[in-house]
Amino acid sequence: MTLLRHTPTEIKERSALAINPAKTCQPIGAMYAALGVRGCMPHSHGSQGCCAYHRSTLTRHYKDPISAGTSSFTEGASVFGGQANLLQAIQNIFTIYEPDVIAVHTTCLSETIGDDLPQIADKARQEGKIPEGKYILTASTPSYVGSHVTGFSNMCMGIAKGFGSKDTKKTGKVNILPGFVEPADMEETKRLATMMGIKHILFPDTSGVVNAPLLGEYHMFPDAGARIEDLVQIGGSKGTIALGEWASAQAARFMDAEFKVPCMVLDLPFGLRATDRYVDALRKIAGTSVPYEIDKERGLVVDLLSDMHQYFHHKKVALWGDPDQLIPLVEFLRDLDMLPVHIVTGTPGKKFEKRIEEIMTETAMPVPYNVKVGGDMFLMHQWIKNEPVDLLIGNTYGKYIARDEDIPLVRHGFPILDRQGHQYFPTVGYRGALRLMEKILDAFLSRKDRDEPEASFELVY
Ligand code: SF4
Repeated sequence: MTLLRHTPTEIKERSALAINPAKTCQPIGAMYAALGVRGCMPHSHGSQGCCAYHRSTLTRHYKDPISAGTSSFTEGASVFGGQANLLQAIQNIFTIYEPDVIAVHTTCLSETIGDDLPQIADKARQEGKIPEGKYILTASTPSYVGSHVTGFSNMCMGIAKGFGSKDTKKTGKVNILPGFVEPADMEETKRLATMMGIKHILFPDTSGVVNAPLLGEYHMFPDAGARIEDLVQIGGSKGTIALGEWASAQAARFMDAEFKVPCMVLDLPFGLRATDRYVDALRKIAGTSVPYEIDKERGLVVDLLSDMHQYFHHKKVALWGDPDQLIPLVEFLRDLDMLPVHIVTGTPGKKFEKRIEEIMTETAMPVPYNVKVGGDMFLMHQWIKNEPVDLLIGNTYGKYIARDEDIPLVRHGFPILDRQGHQYFPTVGYRGALRLMEKILDAFLSRKDRDEPEASFELVY
């Protein structure tokens, strides 16, 4: 039996209805960013149901327990505002769980009521509810606009505003905003910066937090994440590299304007050329040449690309996800001589379609393609019915289309609820590019092994 058997081939214009949107809600991104600060307890200012949804989505993706507080709105808070609930929550959380930071984000409900988080945080401070040396961060994350990426970006702003200061002594360090990527990707982003000899402050940093090892002892706040003693120095850094326009640029531009820390905004380093740009930016900042070890990693990508080019050549792909991820992925697929023909993101942002168009023009895309901002999985399925593809790349929600249309799916992006590995093995950097190519090749060659007639069933590829 097919799962999406009612999806019609005929595409009708829809403006007021999304079916299976290619995004999730703002606070999920805010909660994920907050987990990248060491000793931080995320707090959802809204109903218990919102918080349960945010936590469970992150837990299902990372397969690690995600702790967060909630203001537990009931009828009273919904009518009169949630200030009293949040003040009580701040006091309780600092007393019982002893975090160094509480990162509060709003929800649809608290935004609609009009609760003002910075004002409530000030009141908590005046009332002595915030212990000496502890911090409250805030982010406005109404989920009826934007997506989980917007929420991540807004909490990055909360971190920059909460810890940064223009009076900080110059440190010569570089701020790196890694974007909404896996913890393994954040680790890889740091590794490349370290190999280039760059002293950096990467934030948020969820590596070791949401993919923590099981060592027999539970720590509510793992010894990982961006350290407060580093975060209070971000205003004194000599520059910021923001990876991802949608997730990282807002905070980087804020630090540029407020603390006079100049920023450059780059694509997430997925694939060959986007990684080249990241490494080149590090090289310029360090004023040095790229070490042989990094050259070697790049060479492996080029080697695999040329060895297996015939299997990538002109394969059609449909992909969906976050704009920051899709832009370099589309570029990489074109470098592999593949044809990304259907591209959907649920995250709003006018620049997306323009960037995709630039990449397609620059790489002389030989066939027509579809791209949609604010699109959904229903439209994606319709496009595929009209123009079939060889491969799907995206999060778990594409598995219904994969099964229905019998197309291999490479899981990438957020959320991945039904596979492992994404939190442990990076897909950014040259090493990540190798992994992406391996996954794509595996999908194609496994399909070949399944479908080829016996006469052309090959032992060697
Ligand atoms: S009500 Fe809004 S914030 Fe809460 S889970 Fe739903 S979309 Fe997210």
